[in-house]
Amino acid sequence: MPADAPGAEAGEVASETYLLGLSLEALTEWVQAHGQPAYRGKQLHNWLYKKGARSLQDITVFPKAWRQAMSQVVIGRSTLHHRAVARDGTVKYLLRLGDGQIIETVGIPSANRLTVCVSSQVGCPMACDFCATGKGGFLRNLYCHEIVDQVLTVQADFGQRVSHIVFMGMGEPLLNTDSVVAAIRCLNQDVGISQRAITLSTVGLPGRIRKLADEQLQVTLAVSLHASNQAQRLQLIPSAKAYPLETLLDECRDYVKLTGRRVSFEYILLAGLNDQPRHAAELAQHLRGFQSHVNLIPYNPIDEADYQRPSEASISSFVAALESRHIAVSVRYSRGLEENAACGQLRASKGNLAAAGSDTTTLG
Ligand code: SAH
Repeated sequence: MPADAPGAEAGEVASETYLLGLSLEALTEWVQAHGQPAYRGKQLHNWLYKKGARSLQDITVFPKAWRQAMSQVVIGRSTLHHRAVARDGTVKYLLRLGDGQIIETVGIPSANRLTVCVSSQVGCPMACDFCATGKGGFLRNLYCHEIVDQVLTVQADFGQRVSHIVFMGMGEPLLNTDSVVAAIRCLNQDVGISQRAITLSTVGLPGRIRKLADEQLQVTLAVSLHASNQAQRLQLIPSAKAYPLETLLDECRDYVKLTGRRVSFEYILLAGLNDQPRHAAELAQHLRGFQSHVNLIPYNPIDEADYQRPSEASISSFVAALESRHIAVSVRYSRGLEENAACGQLRASKGNLAAAGSDTTTLG
């Protein structure tokens, strides 16, 4: 299992300074350390987080000579590699990072919301059997600025404030906790998004949910359960071997106690496999008295696996079986299916690029 990336603190990556991800205080210290008065820190903050500056050269309120002297400084914005719009208005972005790696981000508009589905890693090492990202392997963790950038990119493209963020793109956020937590704090304090409007989705790793609880964030924790017993979970999620279902649920109960926030459980419905009434009964048994909510996700087909999406009738009976046992439940129908932008379908492979079309659009 890869460890958290070294040097994952906001601002410092491999001895380069990235301005994105830094707080007002840190930016103020930074401008002062580079010979500018303190008020320039506030200007810089405003240009980074409100005006979306992509380079120091864009910040025209700064003296020209100084901007030129600081030309090596990198803000840390990605460039748009590809953009595809689904019929329902969902937009999938392939973003190119500073080192040329490509990640996926999805913008999901709805009545009065704009949700961004962000990636936390390039690829993912968890190798869950139903997930396209997992089939593509793992390259590296994202840095704080690369997570914040995804939100700013979608916000600028839609010309609308982002209201919600879900860490449900590529990667396992709790393998990259330091950068993810730094990004959440920045998105909250600097970009102005409420922590309660942020959901962190994890497949669960021993000890890491408890470690996250120590951060005392107000985000929603979503745990990818996907099975009603350990044997079945093991079939779908290789990492379940080192983390029995009971232990995972105990850690989730501790999370509720420590944070006062309820936990959401995600459960992919796979036809004939985990969608039978007895699975609902078993799941309800585990969650009895637990301050939680179940999100059912009908499986989104991927080329690399041959699971089936259940019928509407069996989805309804699964819901009814949980409700009759007083479990709070909803069904999440993924958006952007036809553009391969739905949960579990993110994979920045060449094949996917070809399938999504070949136009390379630049952001205006
Ligand atoms: N690694 C994290 C977050 C990324 S996946 C996690 O496992 O939670 C976000 C959600 O999409 C998870 O619940 C994941 O299990 C689900 N998902 C993955 N592949 C899917 C597929 N093919 N169909 C539906 N949901 C899928």
